[in-house]
Amino acid sequence: MKAVRYHGPGEPFRLETVPEPQAGPGEVRVRIRAAGMCHTELHFESGLLNLGTAPVTMGHEMAGVINQAGEGVDPSRLGERVLVYYYAGCGECEWCLRGEENLCGSLKAEYGFFNDGGYAELIVVPARNAVPLPSNVSFEAAAPIGCGVTTAIHACNLAGLADGEVVVVYGVGTVGYGLIQVARLRGARVVAVGRTPGKLALARELGAHEVANASDEGKDVAARVRELTGGRGADVVFELVATRETMAASTAMLAKQGRLVFIGYSPDSYTVHPIHLVINEAVVTASVGNTLGEMEEALALVAEGKVRTVVDHTLPLEEWEKGMEALREGTALGRIVLIP
Ligand SMILES: [Zn+2]
Ligand SMILES: [Zn+2]
Repeated sequence: MKAVRYHGPGEPFRLETVPEPQAGPGEVRVRIRAAGMCHTELHFESGLLNLGTAPVTMGHEMAGVINQAGEGVDPSRLGERVLVYYYAGCGECEWCLRGEENLCGSLKAEYGFFNDGGYAELIVVPARNAVPLPSNVSFEAAAPIGCGVTTAIHACNLAGLADGEVVVVYGVGTVGYGLIQVARLRGARVVAVGRTPGKLALARELGAHEVANASDEGKDVAARVRELTGGRGADVVFELVATRETMAASTAMLAKQGRLVFIGYSPDSYTVHPIHLVINEAVVTASVGNTLGEMEEALALVAEGKVRTVVDHTLPLEEWEKGMEALREGTALGRIVLIP
């Protein structure tokens, strides 16, 4: 089968022919029908994210149809439409027992990171990682739920978001669109910050109460957020960009007891004098990935029409390079989805 694979930091991905994987006991094989292209792939490409495992098939957002059921798996699942959850925890550590397998230190698999992911025709995963996809959600619309919407739910949970709080979503892309919608559903007043007018217009369409263009505001984006919030500032800032400039602004716009939640990262380090945190009792925290329960919640929100994913365009798997080019240039308004 065809697969787009990572070969190490700084090496270009390559489209290759690899053996078809076979479902073992307790596993299913999914014929992938849609795979979302996440910004994380750029971090693999540049070497910023180097997990030391190569070669590995890229892609951690995938939807498809079960076409093989391993020993012990209910054969009636053959033909089932599913969304794949990309972590497979050990099931025994304190994090797994709490349902937080995104923090498991003995992961059995993390698809698209350490294990072969969704930029391929087939993937084999434990049966529990293949979550039934409601019939009213297309494969294309489903793929960006896996990382985009689910990560947004995880970050909102982690931030302890309360009704009526001011949330700044700093960075408008797929996770940002998810955060705008999920935070609004939880009663937050949402300010989206970005640089691209088209993405900010979409942010407003998806429910942002206010938008701020960081290019217009320059270094005063924090002042602009204070102005938009009657001087209060942000109870929660979700940092999806994390450059030196945005991190300074994100810190400066925090309200008293505000929480800065890192989700994205760049080559830049976070530097802040503690006094800026101390005087406001500010909290700096971070959010990584998501849990299976959160993916089920994300899927239900999309199926009920409460949250929508935004697909910019689809590409055949063979044209993945065009998708990477668009990711690098930041030209896509929503997800680019590969169709293997
Ligand atoms: Zn992702
Ligand atoms: Zn574990």
